[in-house]
Amino acid sequence: SIVLMNGEFIPREEAKVDIEDRGYQFGDGIYEVIRVYNGKMFTATQHLERLQTSGEKININITYTVQNLTVLLEELIHRNSLHTGIIYMQFTRGESPRNHAYPIETVPPTFVAYTKELERPVTSLENGVSSITVEDIRWSRCDIKSLNLLGNVMAKQKAVEADCYESIQYRELTVTEGSSSNIWIVKDEVVQTHEANSFILNGITRRKIVDVCQRREITIKEKAFSIEELIDADEVFLSSTTAEVMPIVAINNVPVGSGEVGIITRKLQNYFKEEIFVECGE
Ligand code: PMP
Repeated sequence: SIVLMNGEFIPREEAKVDIEDRGYQFGDGIYEVIRVYNGKMFTATQHLERLQTSGEKININITYTVQNLTVLLEELIHRNSLHTGIIYMQFTRGESPRNHAYPIETVPPTFVAYTKELERPVTSLENGVSSITVEDIRWSRCDIKSLNLLGNVMAKQKAVEADCYESIQYRELTVTEGSSSNIWIVKDEVVQTHEANSFILNGITRRKIVDVCQRREITIKEKAFSIEELIDADEVFLSSTTAEVMPIVAINNVPVGSGEVGIITRKLQNYFKEEIFVECGE
């Protein structure tokens, strides 16, 4: 396959990173994942703007504009003949002799992007998935889409060991988000998710769902909810770029509501599919 490295298209085998790259040593970098449907990127501008914002928050200077990146990523899709899948991209603070402080001289960031074929998770979308609750042990800048994912990695591993799809994280008694997703509840036909502050990543899928609810006159509340409210919800789902609107039908081995995929969750799945169709076609 062909990857994009520091602006050049090269075979994957030729893409090499130095042992003193700050991404490798410190997780000092940021990343994005963009969905590709029908050979076209979905919500690319929002992802690339969030990438810029993440960069600004930790002073990594992304020298490309959203427009530049879009052109390069479209070319990457084309060179790999990608139909359904994702683009993964990351910028690190670059190569520099190991030292916690930022390098003084202007070191260029290391930029890598590559594609991967990935089908829509149709079976899970149809039947729903199971989850467990775990304590959120991460730092307090979860709004940055940072490469430092150890807390998320440990949370996901717990889910896998419990034979579950996702871990739902909580701080004190408040639900924050999944290990790699945002978490939603539906109670008495009101849709609710954690407000976009520094304790969660403001998902692009999350923003799209908020937008869809507002346009379709579904009541939406961006406000943190408790573990108790989670357990007591009529419907629960998660959202992410790869998983879209994914029903959660069990939490800690207890069925959510009736144990079936909820009516509003199903509606939102269908509205979401329409959004994909509008932007990417069939
Ligand atoms: N929260 C976390 C911690 C994530 O890693 C992700 C991305 N997989 C999300 C939320 C969802 O964000 P998005 O909808 O932009 O993929």
